[in-house]
Amino acid sequence: MRIFEEKLDWEKPCGGGVTNKALAEYPFLAEAVVERNWINTCELVSPAGRRISLQLDHAIAIFSRRLLNNLLRDRAQAAGATVIHQRVTAISGEPGSWQLSARAGPQFADYLIFSTGARNPFRAQFTQPWGPGDLMTAIGYYIPGSSRVATVRFLPNFEGYFWLFPRTDHYSAGICGKLEAQATADLRILLERLIREEGLDYQNSTFYAHVLPNLNGFSFQNATFSGAGWAMLGDAAGFVDPVTGEGLRYALRSADLLAQALSDNRPEKYAAAVRSDFLPELNTAAAMPTVFTTAHSAAARSWTVWFKWLLTARKCAPSCATCSPDRKATRICGSAWAPACPPS
Ligand SMILES: Cc1cc2nc3c(=O)[nH]c(=O)nc-3n(C[C@H](O)[C@H](O)[C@H](O)COP(=O)(O)OP(=O)(O)OC[C@H]3O[C@@H](n4cnc5c(N)ncnc54)[C@H](O)[C@@H]3O)c2cc1C
Repeated sequence: MRIFEEKLDWEKPCGGGVTNKALAEYPFLAEAVVERNWINTCELVSPAGRRISLQLDHAIAIFSRRLLNNLLRDRAQAAGATVIHQRVTAISGEPGSWQLSARAGPQFADYLIFSTGARNPFRAQFTQPWGPGDLMTAIGYYIPGSSRVATVRFLPNFEGYFWLFPRTDHYSAGICGKLEAQATADLRILLERLIREEGLDYQNSTFYAHVLPNLNGFSFQNATFSGAGWAMLGDAAGFVDPVTGEGLRYALRSADLLAQALSDNRPEKYAAAVRSDFLPELNTAAAMPTVFTTAHSAAARSWTVWFKWLLTARKCAPSCATCSPDRKATRICGSAWAPACPPS
């Protein structure tokens, strides 16, 4: 197994938030001796500016992506993979005898795994290319400081959201919006205003920009993410939740499913495994993004719907196991967070 990585030790533009679901599936993320910030409080801000604070039953871990990538790469190396610090610039050949072009000269491979991220230079060569409607622009700043509260804010007439994720010694403050909907310069002006409103100063902070997949239900259903002698994982395949932008769990999960298929010597099982494992939840989310991330005149109502969905579909629920999902949502949306069950 050879891993070609053009950017070692890279702070990949990202919030770095790893949900409890991912931590439960991959306990090494919680157990590894690596810096991360544990978040137990999440603040949601409605398009009308109303704030609600949630005490989470299960903490979210916020990683620096440089440290998280290094952790994952170290594990791959310990398991026998060789890491080659080079960019793959072209691929030719056929299943079983692929030829990769890299600075060190041609490299040969039986099987190709694309985990190139959203800017997948080989997508059009192997599967359907994406259009601007399949991508979101995400920009942000790394700002010195820290806290124990993650903030997610929705904005009037805006499909996307602002986040403020505190890491151990800095915040990842960013905003994402549909690539086709607005110019990056306008998005940056909006981002800077929101950061100021959170009481932070972005001057002298590092700016970042990237894209993230934002597929609709049709794209998910019709996606081809593997074929004879190749497979795509994570962002390269478009496996990102179109509502929340969560991609780390799906990158790990797709890698896991492909590893199982390859170790069974049945690579063709990968596509079916993805379709039965996590694609249904991405499809469900894809049916909702405009409801959840666009605030029209009934901004507060949209926000409440988003919130209900977060609590029920995403099981981000209070500790009480006896409340029905609707009841939990009603209680939370009442305006104040209370972890205890309301009286029946
Ligand atoms: C601003 C932003 C905020 C986000 N916040 C969160 C969050 O808080 N939580 C969450 O779960 N998800 C978040 N995401 C999504 C998350 O970052 C991605 O889903 C995740 O990084 C996908 O992992 P990946 O391995 O598929 O791709 P990547 O992490 O993008 O890794 C791809 C790697 O491939 C390398 N590469 C690419 N092309 C080549 C080539 N030709 N040759 C050699 N190497 C190559 C790149 O250098 C890169 O290191 C965010 C995304 C963005 C843009």
